[in-house]
Amino acid sequence: MPAASSSRRKRVAPSSDIEDGPTQKSTREDVEEEDDEQPQRVVKKEKKVVKGKGRAAEAYHSEEEEDDDDKIDVDSFADQPLDKSHIISMNGFASDWGTMIKTVQRTNNMVADVAVALADNVEGDVGKKGLLELERFLKELVDIESEMHINYEVIQNLVQQVTIGTEIDNIVEQYQDNVRKNKESYTSKTTRQKYAKNETYKNFKQSVYEIEHPGEAMPPVTEFMPKESGDDSDDDDDLEMGAVTQDYKCPLTLRPLENPVTSETCGHSFSQDAIREMFAGFRGSKKCPASGCTREFRLVDCKPNKELVKKLRLHARRLKKKEQEQDAEEVIE
Ligand SMILES: [Zn+2]
Repeated sequence: MPAASSSRRKRVAPSSDIEDGPTQKSTREDVEEEDDEQPQRVVKKEKKVVKGKGRAAEAYHSEEEEDDDDKIDVDSFADQPLDKSHIISMNGFASDWGTMIKTVQRTNNMVADVAVALADNVEGDVGKKGLLELERFLKELVDIESEMHINYEVIQNLVQQVTIGTEIDNIVEQYQDNVRKNKESYTSKTTRQKYAKNETYKNFKQSVYEIEHPGEAMPPVTEFMPKESGDDSDDDDDLEMGAVTQDYKCPLTLRPLENPVTSETCGHSFSQDAIREMFAGFRGSKKCPASGCTREFRLVDCKPNKELVKKLRLHARRLKKKEQEQDAEEVIE
């Protein structure tokens, strides 16, 4: 891999990754890119354009140092193998993708929140249409998240290879090749395989379902996705978490959940004080107290559940609204 100083060499041609299509001759960038007599200005422009794609994307395209104003002419370095001396910067690139994944996940959660608010407040066709659009948007975001995961994993994989002493020639080619193969295999997945296990998507479905069918347990999320060729019936095992009934009552106190914690083993939730009392200092596993659940877990497997807190609040608000509506009806009668 090239050292930072090597990248200061004069550019030969504008790089292809930011070059606009031939149909956009009128844009300023294009005019400048075609003008080889002004290399300085061209470089400045390109830098700006590349930045818009995010740091990891920039690294992916140019493999350059963070503060480096220049771009590397990849062709000149094609034969330099990647070795152990590059592990730190490779990990840096991987963690850039990791940061971007977290950002997308935050956006996903926001979309889910908007959907809940919409389902809660807008009735009729307008609300339904909005929900469908949000769902499509959320699916697109899940796709983007997956693509980022692919990039992340491909780098991690290369790091592993380099760590055990493998020298990697044609890094750019290999990287792009691996990313492309993984993307193809993602694209060929069925709707269920893509979304049914995504936490945010499941949450979205669950929240909307609860608003539209108060008091009913949601069927497994796969119910909403017609089976496609490639869907195994064995997949159902992995999806049972989606079917956990959410009645917002603690199985121990039989009262509404307070400071809810959720068992990571089975997905059942309890009021914090009650589950602590049940374990009473015991550090081993106990059988889940939720009726019908046969799993075992330890107290440390129960984690505070912020999402559930949010849902509880919404649920309480809906109950109140319902009461008020009933009161109003009684007055009229
Ligand atoms: Zn359980």
